[in-house]
Amino acid sequence: MEQSAIPHWYGPDDDVLTVAEGEDATVYDEDGTEYLDFLSQLYSVNAGHSCERIVEAMTEQARRIPYVSSSKHTPIRSELAGKLVERAPDGLTDVFFSVTGSEANELALQLAREYQDAPKVLSRWRSYHGSTYGAAALTGDPQTRAPVEKHAATTGYTKFLPPLDFGGPFDADTPEELAEKAADHLEWVIKNEGPDSIAALVTEPVGGTSGAYTAPPGYFERVRELCDEYDILLVADEVISGFGRCGDWFAIEGEGVEPDLVTFAKGVTSSYAPLAGVLVNEGLAGMVEDEGLPTGQTFAGHPVSCAAGVAAIDAYEDGLLENVRALAPELESGLRSLEDEYDVVADVHGRGFLWGVEFADPETGEHFFDPRVDEGDNPVSDVLAEARERGVLFGGGRPTVQVIVSPPLCATTDEIDTAVEVLGESIDAVF
Ligand code: PMP
Repeated sequence: MEQSAIPHWYGPDDDVLTVAEGEDATVYDEDGTEYLDFLSQLYSVNAGHSCERIVEAMTEQARRIPYVSSSKHTPIRSELAGKLVERAPDGLTDVFFSVTGSEANELALQLAREYQDAPKVLSRWRSYHGSTYGAAALTGDPQTRAPVEKHAATTGYTKFLPPLDFGGPFDADTPEELAEKAADHLEWVIKNEGPDSIAALVTEPVGGTSGAYTAPPGYFERVRELCDEYDILLVADEVISGFGRCGDWFAIEGEGVEPDLVTFAKGVTSSYAPLAGVLVNEGLAGMVEDEGLPTGQTFAGHPVSCAAGVAAIDAYEDGLLENVRALAPELESGLRSLEDEYDVVADVHGRGFLWGVEFADPETGEHFFDPRVDEGDNPVSDVLAEARERGVLFGGGRPTVQVIVSPPLCATTDEIDTAVEVLGESIDAVF
């Protein structure tokens, strides 16, 4: 379908799939051709495409009262806030709502800088934290940063930490050594920048668009210790990794540390309606109340979105979280079997239902880089096209060249088997 009034940047118009309908982990185009959606439409539709209880809850709320000013109370908003705080990491007592993940990160930045009275923020090179000015300034993906680098004065206040993968700059032989070297480097950055000038460190517990990297064991514990020692707030960006995507309510739980702020979006409503927010500790919540800081937008905590959020959380609790935990080992071993089978698959990393399959030149061992960022081919676009021909949609990570595998939490064993088989056939067809 031609969409001439909607400009886009990700490829020729006729390559863009039109998605018209969906059911569970499957979507259909306008002609009824079906595809397994193994990216959950941007890691978002965690409960699957036909979750009746979410639709009913939204309809019921819209009938009762569709919109209540974000400066007033309304029962559904309070109910969702209570559910979120109950499931949040210990120490987080309050939630501020926004509409998008970018705005949630903007708000986290504003709160952290105000609380600490400090301008700088640490983030990770290659990370993605959003497209608005502040969130893009925080983002380490060069393509997203490029336009704001030119015009936004605040970009200079973000200091980047290197990526945590073995292709990164730390010459480590084991995960333990990588954790130690990366944490030592973090301490060096903190001292070099001046601890008093740094408000916060913002990080994804498990990488998302940059490739589903997990931190080496022990890394986050050292990060927490360093943040405590130098009085820096730890912000976990759980926009992708939260709400069961990695098998827990929030992926930071798997690292055994408690952050000071958590930002969330996408999975909170399973993306049936736009909603995002920031979970904060008592000190930050108190500051907002004492100083009367404005924190929201007109649609922040929209009642229909909150109804979707309450129903989505119930759906996760009623079996979907369980399903991820039960089937994640199967997804992992399927993807690892591709690593054994194809020399070009250099690494498989991730957690729960969020995985990256990374490619490298088998002759040289060099990882491929996205040509939009660095020189080189991007064979992953061909793998994605082959998979789509065979009826499975995956995502592409960047800037290292990866296939991202991230199905709805309702995906079944058969669907996982099919997706892994199709990915293998697609790799075979390209290399
Ligand atoms: N943080 C992360 C980790 C993300 O992946 C994204 C979007 N993919 C965002 C923030 C921004 O969210 P939104 O697109 O809703 O603004």
